Amino acid sequence: MDRHHPICRTCGVQRASDADRTVCPVCADERQYVGWGGQRWVSITELHAEGFRGVVRQESPGLWGVGVEPSVCIGQRALVVPGPGGNVLFDCVPYVDDETVAAVERVGGLAAIALSHPHFYGSMVEWSKAFGDIPVYVHASDASWVPRSGNIVLWEGERQEILPERTLVNCGIHFPGGSVLHWPGLDGKGALCTGDIFTVVMDRRWVSFMYSYPNLIPEHPDTILRAVSLVDSLPYDTVYGGWWGRVVAGGAKARVRASADRYLARVGASGGRRS
Ligand SMILES: [Zn+2]
Repeated sequence: MDRHHPICRTCGVQRASDADRTVCPVCADERQYVGWGGQRWVSITELHAEGFRGVVRQESPGLWGVGVEPSVCIGQRALVVPGPGGNVLFDCVPYVDDETVAAVERVGGLAAIALSHPHFYGSMVEWSKAFGDIPVYVHASDASWVPRSGNIVLWEGERQEILPERTLVNCGIHFPGGSVLHWPGLDGKGALCTGDIFTVVMDRRWVSFMYSYPNLIPEHPDTILRAVSLVDSLPYDTVYGGWWGRVVAGGAKARVRASADRYLARVGASGGRRS
């Protein structure tokens, strides 16, 4: 295995070449932070030597997730979203190896990759190449954050169906290109995979919306109103957040509305929703 491209130790985003081993632009941004020990880089090969491995297990019965153990960088898990024409990997992780690829192939493989926002890009181009150079969907508003060339498909506008029954919605929270994936869900009632565009919080009856999570910078009320209204026209009953177990299981549309109301009330912007 020769997967030597540099990966930022803090955010887990893989870059193109050793010439990039300078300051990680994702971490230099006000939404992230440079690790307290200074900027450090690692590679997939080095992570492997340190004992990190890819894991493929069910987030819910019938829905597979992909993560890394032990937890690395931001610790997100991706989701293998099924449907006609093949699985879509929503979001990505820093690590991949031949065993991880084989495990994903056993649950049907991948036909495309789609990203919620730059913090979850992980080693998306490496993942794409591992599955035959499959397309990687990134919203055009975040094009400047793409760290490495590959089969990147920049999509524009509010919605893009990338495969039958899998549609990206550009909510614009957290990043201008911040996007969620709508699909019929395991029960046909509809589901959103949100990463941390809508983040499922520790009380899993709720979500929240932040411009920066590590630095606790709130998202703008107008951006939240627009995003909640965009997904409100879609059927959905479940929200899958960006980490293992972060799921609003049932009644999710009402919970997202209530979460927006609660947030807007706290920041003194209540009363504007859907009016
Ligand atoms: Zn970084």
